[in-house]
Amino acid sequence: MLDTIVVGSGPGGASVAQTLARLGQRVLLLEQGGAEPLRGTLAQMARIAAVPGRGAFLHSDASLLVRGLTAGGTSTLNFATAAAPPLERFAALGVDLAPALAECRAELPIGQLPDELVGPLAQRILQAARATGLPWQKLDKMIRPALCRTGCWRCVYGCPYGAKWSARELLEQARLQGARLLDNARATRVLLEGGRAAGVEYLHAGALHSARARNVVLAGGGIGSPRLLHASGLAPRSLPFFSDPVVAVMGAVDGLDAPGAGAEVPMAAGMALPEDGLSFADLTLPRPMYQAFALQVGRIDRLWAHGRTLSLMVKIRDAAGGGIGPRWVDKRLQAEDRARFQRGTALARRILAEAGARHVFQSWHFAAHPGGALALGGGGPAAVDSNLRTATPGLYVCDAAVLPAPWGLPPTLTLLALGRRLGRHLTQLN
Ligand SMILES: Cc1cc2nc3c(=O)[nH]c(=O)nc-3n(C[C@H](O)[C@H](O)[C@H](O)COP(=O)(O)OP(=O)(O)OC[C@H]3O[C@@H](n4cnc5c(N)ncnc54)[C@H](O)[C@@H]3O)c2cc1C
Repeated sequence: MLDTIVVGSGPGGASVAQTLARLGQRVLLLEQGGAEPLRGTLAQMARIAAVPGRGAFLHSDASLLVRGLTAGGTSTLNFATAAAPPLERFAALGVDLAPALAECRAELPIGQLPDELVGPLAQRILQAARATGLPWQKLDKMIRPALCRTGCWRCVYGCPYGAKWSARELLEQARLQGARLLDNARATRVLLEGGRAAGVEYLHAGALHSARARNVVLAGGGIGSPRLLHASGLAPRSLPFFSDPVVAVMGAVDGLDAPGAGAEVPMAAGMALPEDGLSFADLTLPRPMYQAFALQVGRIDRLWAHGRTLSLMVKIRDAAGGGIGPRWVDKRLQAEDRARFQRGTALARRILAEAGARHVFQSWHFAAHPGGALALGGGGPAAVDSNLRTATPGLYVCDAAVLPAPWGLPPTLTLLALGRRLGRHLTQLN
């Protein structure tokens, strides 16, 4: 019999699977997406990126939610920023994440980009922010500078050069250590026996299958795992969550155009104002994405200004709310979220003015960190305990759904550390 089935191969699932395999456990990892190599093209990214949700096109206060459905999960599309977990917050919940975090730091390519990889638009923003007196710093990235290229934008679509870290690296290590990864395999429910998790039912190649194991770890992401718990009759229909909504505030600087301008690693530098629940970074995206932002808000006059446009990301820590249903996701801004955005975008406009940018406009809000529906320490109807165990023996969750809300930080490094810690805990149990 298998020791553990892990459902979902993003940072949370890949980390727990790799730790278990390294410690000699028999592991099956089910991933609903495919595992074809990343090519760094818009077409492939569009296939991988699922935009779930209802209401985003109907209500101006509903966020469009982005996630990646593929081997490696959303880490294949993310911007590779490595934010440290809030260790004290976890310690207060009985979780010592420091040892696992230290191991992650020792093994992963984490560090600031060298100056030559910070693009000209990001540099201009950094100078303007500092001139405004703001503590703008280069951010830690999960990027290997030696393999990264100046004037490249492909990391946003899925880096094909091995420069940007993704959870696919852990999947490969897990495979070499004996774990089995089955892609295009969508888990449909958790199988129960005597009130305990006994395995998983999944759809693969058009047929339903089942696999049995001592333990099951759900790692389908902030939306996928709550959905699977509900489908298994183990969680209410709709659970509130947070999503860390973002807007891009953009303005053009005359004469800044240079060959290759606009092709940069996004989020090279930025700042967080935790007291205000706000964070900021440069956010230069590939031209088609920039043009989509301009079109979204009717700024046809800005369509061809990509190479001279400074883009700033304004991210808020939002209040938990909305709900995740069987086929829909609904997350709208609340009054306090709108107030945060107002403060954040006003500050972004000040930085752009200092940088000499004109024709300023901003995108609609969208969100990339859905989480907290099964919050550790949250006390909700489906919250997990300090070992990430659900109320059902043998059933664990290890992904953004367990993050204690509210959040507001890039969560990947936290999830990697949680995965390591859970892998070790499960090995000790067996
Ligand atoms: C554009 C963008 C930029 C981002 N930038 C950053 C950043 O710079 N830094 C950072 O830390 N974070 C960033 N993030 C967020 C980060 O990537 C995610 O928070 C993180 O990947 C979440 O990890 P996870 O393990 O919870 O789930 P995911 O990475 O979403 O993985 C879940 C996996 O489970 C699979 N799955 C779901 N349901 C099932 C099922 N029923 N059966 C089988 N498989 C299933 C999915 O296909 C997916 O592969 C960004 C996100 C986006 C969208």
